[in-house]
Amino acid sequence: MKTLVIGLDGATYNVLEPLLDEGRLPNLQNLIETGTAGTLDSTVPPATYPAWKCYSTGQHPTKLGFHSFLGFKQGNLEPASTDAPEIWDYVCEQGGTAASINMPTSYPASELDGFMTSGYVIGGDDWIYPEEMREFVEEEFDYRPEVSFPVHTELLAEDTAEARAEIRSVMQSRFELAKFALNELSLDFLQLTMYYTDTYQHFFWNQPEILNEMWEYVDEQLGDVLDRVPDGTNVFVVSDHGFERLDTGIFYLNRWLEKEGYLTLEGNETTGLFERLSVDTKTLSAWLDRFGLMPLVRALVPESTRRKVPNPRGEVGVDQLSERLVWEESDAVMYGGGIFLNVDRLGPRYEEVRTELMERVTEITSPETGDPVLVDAYRPEELYAPGETLPRDDDEVPDVLLLPRDEGFVSPAYSPNVWNTTDLEGRWSVHAKPGIFIANGPDIRESSADLDIFDVAPTVLHAMGYPIAEEMDGRVRKDIFSAESEPATREVEYRGERTRIDSAVRALEDGL
Ligand SMILES: [Zn+2]
Repeated sequence: MKTLVIGLDGATYNVLEPLLDEGRLPNLQNLIETGTAGTLDSTVPPATYPAWKCYSTGQHPTKLGFHSFLGFKQGNLEPASTDAPEIWDYVCEQGGTAASINMPTSYPASELDGFMTSGYVIGGDDWIYPEEMREFVEEEFDYRPEVSFPVHTELLAEDTAEARAEIRSVMQSRFELAKFALNELSLDFLQLTMYYTDTYQHFFWNQPEILNEMWEYVDEQLGDVLDRVPDGTNVFVVSDHGFERLDTGIFYLNRWLEKEGYLTLEGNETTGLFERLSVDTKTLSAWLDRFGLMPLVRALVPESTRRKVPNPRGEVGVDQLSERLVWEESDAVMYGGGIFLNVDRLGPRYEEVRTELMERVTEITSPETGDPVLVDAYRPEELYAPGETLPRDDDEVPDVLLLPRDEGFVSPAYSPNVWNTTDLEGRWSVHAKPGIFIANGPDIRESSADLDIFDVAPTVLHAMGYPIAEEMDGRVRKDIFSAESEPATREVEYRGERTRIDSAVRALEDGL
């Protein structure tokens, strides 16, 4: 059975439902009404990294050692990566053909029997496989791996029309490449992911006319893509995470850790400057903005120095924080969605400090709403590897995973204040755990079902007639298939070193 997966980064019923109710997304509506739809529960943390990788591998982030854009090793930040096989690898290994367009976390493009263009974060030129396709996609579809400007500054400008036009043309190139693949290639598996839907929801949450128009555009293009899908194709629509309005304000955990004595940072020229001027980062940023100097600063100041200029929310980024980190004198620091503890320094106090921090951070409440900012804090091995003891010297995995409430945000960036509840430019919304899942096709029944993000890969592979790799943590969700369909009646087949008892438990679960 052929498969098309549409990835919509950050898609949420919070935004889509009102539009569906008004009949403004007819193609998604049709998929929902004649198929199976529900929520897709994302990872902890519900972030683009690791969520897409967990979708494509069917594996827990803790096992992948993949929790954020950057891994944290011995106090240093390095690009995160994993060699774990993804859906298309399994398809190709079984003799099928596959392509993936623009899925975040997929840089550099990997070899497969088909093609791949990488998605966010693009680290260089290796964003396309095979190399021979580069000139073709560039000339034919004006394909670029990403937009030419830093979205975090341009989309906060007064007039965003030009930036939005460029984003639109880049999105269009992904749709065109998918249409080409459906017209001209006979692929067994095609993944088309739209990344800028996430960006739009961050920056235009408070401008519903702009946000809604983008979703109408996506739906219209989706219709064009679906028109080209060969008969007998199962179509899946998935998000990496959902979105919610931010109402707790932004909590700067690293500033809190510093104040509470867990984190030591050395002074830098930026803070030094602010201190000398007796002005905080936010005020300086506001001045630069008011006098129209921000674009000049951006144009004239080298990137390395520019990073030290705070953004409009008065923050300096996590990369800048890492340059100031004195790891030998710190017990804890936050990167990505978790807290890393200094195992060497803590020695026998490690578990005591870990427990203490977990208790303290879950008690922190928003000065705006009075709500706790976190739903909970977890030991990653308890959440994602029950029964296993992870090697705690494994620096890639945080020692504490944080799950903010859906309307809350814990930032790893650095700010002079612990809370920001007033200047939320570009942060009016936050990632949330519930995303969307839609399936439609000859094997899919008309129903509703809520899935875990880890379930999608095994379910898709089973629908395609392939065995499920033992390393996958998700399970085949037979309940989405219509009773008389082939995938519903065929037993789930596993490959690899799974024990017989394990397989029996799985088979029982899969039958539910
Ligand atoms: Zn995302």
